[in-house]
Amino acid sequence: MVVSDELTSLKGVGPEVARKFAVLGVRTVGQLADYLPRRYEDYSVVTPTAKLRPGQVTVRAKLKDVSGRYVRRGMHITEAAASDASGSIRLVWFNQPYRLTSLKHDQEYYLSGKFELSNRRFGLMNPSVELVSDFPLNVARIVPIYRETKGLNSRQIRKCIGQVLPLIRALPETLPAWITEEEKLMPRARAMEAMHFPASATELEQAKRRLGFEEIYELVLASLLNKYELMREQAPPVAFDEKLAKDFVKHLPFQLTDAQRKVVWQIYQDMQKAQPMNRLVEGDVGSGKTVVAAMAAAMVMKDGHQVAFMAPTELLARQHAETLTKVLAPIGYDKKVGLLVGGMSTAQKTSAHKAISDNKMQLMVGTHALIQEKVDMQRLELVIIDEQHRFGVDQRKKLQAKAGHMPHVLNLTATPIPRSLALTLYGELDISVLDAKPANRKPIITEICAPVSRKQRYENIDKELAAGRQMFVVCPLIAESDNLPAMSAEKMYEQLTNKDFKHRRVGLLHGKMKADEKNAVMQKFVSRDLDILVATTVIEVGVDVPNATVMLIEGAERFGLAQMHQRRGRVGRREHQGYCYLMMSDSKSPGRRLRALETSNDGFRLAEFDLAERGPGAVYGTLQHGELDLRVAKLTDVKLIASARKAAQATIDRNEDLLQYPVMYEHVRAIRAVTNLN
Ligand code: ADP
Ligand code: MG
Repeated sequence: MVVSDELTSLKGVGPEVARKFAVLGVRTVGQLADYLPRRYEDYSVVTPTAKLRPGQVTVRAKLKDVSGRYVRRGMHITEAAASDASGSIRLVWFNQPYRLTSLKHDQEYYLSGKFELSNRRFGLMNPSVELVSDFPLNVARIVPIYRETKGLNSRQIRKCIGQVLPLIRALPETLPAWITEEEKLMPRARAMEAMHFPASATELEQAKRRLGFEEIYELVLASLLNKYELMREQAPPVAFDEKLAKDFVKHLPFQLTDAQRKVVWQIYQDMQKAQPMNRLVEGDVGSGKTVVAAMAAAMVMKDGHQVAFMAPTELLARQHAETLTKVLAPIGYDKKVGLLVGGMSTAQKTSAHKAISDNKMQLMVGTHALIQEKVDMQRLELVIIDEQHRFGVDQRKKLQAKAGHMPHVLNLTATPIPRSLALTLYGELDISVLDAKPANRKPIITEICAPVSRKQRYENIDKELAAGRQMFVVCPLIAESDNLPAMSAEKMYEQLTNKDFKHRRVGLLHGKMKADEKNAVMQKFVSRDLDILVATTVIEVGVDVPNATVMLIEGAERFGLAQMHQRRGRVGRREHQGYCYLMMSDSKSPGRRLRALETSNDGFRLAEFDLAERGPGAVYGTLQHGELDLRVAKLTDVKLIASARKAAQATIDRNEDLLQYPVMYEHVRAIRAVTNLN
């Protein structure tokens, strides 16, 4: 048997069963060996029949009096007695007439199932049965439960995995021996066998530790390798000009926070080096990342070089272009800022391209169109990426090819990445945290609202609007849907316009609208020609409307915590008090997540909460990427992460040839391709 063998090479697997396995993503015996259980049921303790208590039990007994009959409505019942030295119990199977012929009198079996009351008598209901042996698959053990599909249950899967055990036992070791020795990790083959058929709870724990260690180790190693590779690349040093920095700061309408000052300083230090900067600035919404980016850009522009500023949406790109133009005006750089987005006309694009190659445009603001189009990037020295997590290694290579050198890269994100996650996944990045918000900010007042309070809410909100403030309304859907009873943006728009706020100016914004329509609506809201903006999630990131103070989130129970925190950050961005109303679709209990949002304004704390409650995918979408899937390890396991990190660093320090470990090498290579943010 070899890993690439088709499943049909197994006993009892024909084309029909193989098709069902394919639904689960399993096509070869190797993939089957790798198909880990979702959970386990513990039937490992064998109890004498006389000592049984209601619940999930296992007995070892001989069968007697096996009989079957049809009862009302065509239901079939098989009954039997199972006796051991201590006594005897009743066994019942519903609609399994084949039991009648398959069960043998006086034969000793393991029986695992639920011991419960049925027809006023205790008995073992629908138990699994297996002949007594040293290696039972379905009974008298910690039983693995797999993800199943129609027509293929865990029992059938177990039977097939039982057949590939020789292959599992021969799986090659993937980690360096000095690591498995030092960390006392069980051999990979044994860990894999124990994941499927653990001999004990302790062994299962050790198997999980071993495989989890390997997962984290590979992630960390991948990001460290990326880091060291980047350190060997050349980037053009950007000289620091103190006068320019002071000039810029002097003309700001506010004082930089200490956090901003510190981060800008770190960036200037990075850019003075001949190695590419690879920094991530994490700052909660409203912490003032744009100014920090502008200061980085100015330093590059001063020497006649260029900066690309990439935003995730066109809307944001336009807004950033405006903001940057404004803040760079006092030092005379406003004319050097330009826009390059997909929605521009061909003529506009052509003229932008020309401005770039003439170096009239030094700060290009745009979406991915920036690097996809035929843009001259000879002078590009700095790339700033706002709220954009998936800027992969390929894009960076593209830029390198265009510019002839590696540009410095600055990532900005408002998604607070919990430390454990950041260290594991982004060890290659230098991380700066904007850990303080501008002093003039008041915490946003957040309240969970039951549907019955809607009228009362609207009255309060209208006072805000009457005072000249504005409101965002976010809905989970664009249009009405039969299967989702949630409020849609279209319906909300109609209700507010025709009924609740008919004396106010209401606008609608959603993802299906054309780019210029979206811009027009957004523009009207920004220039205060609208009081209320009803939107879907398109307003998610970055949009800055200082006069907006109310955020009403419809169907709040449907949204992720991080997402809602982001949205809440859209209001209260100036001196005015901000309000966030989490409107529930029904009167059910709001749950811990919404309560957390109500009580905390701290994005980092909320992210930690989400990580613990729902796992990394909830916090950081990238983790849903197949290569980064953690099947066994938990990112909350601080001890495991610490030892895996140590081992990864030691691997690099020892300068080992990773090709000695081909399986691990291949994993690491695949991870590197997706995690390299830049
Ligand atoms: P984010 O970090 O969410 O991108 P922005 O950069 O959009 O935040 O800044 C939010 C708002 O705060 C902007 O209107 C900006 O002008 C303002 N701001 C930035 N820094 C300060 C500061 N130090 N003091 C007061 N206001 C500031
Ligand atoms: Mg921003």
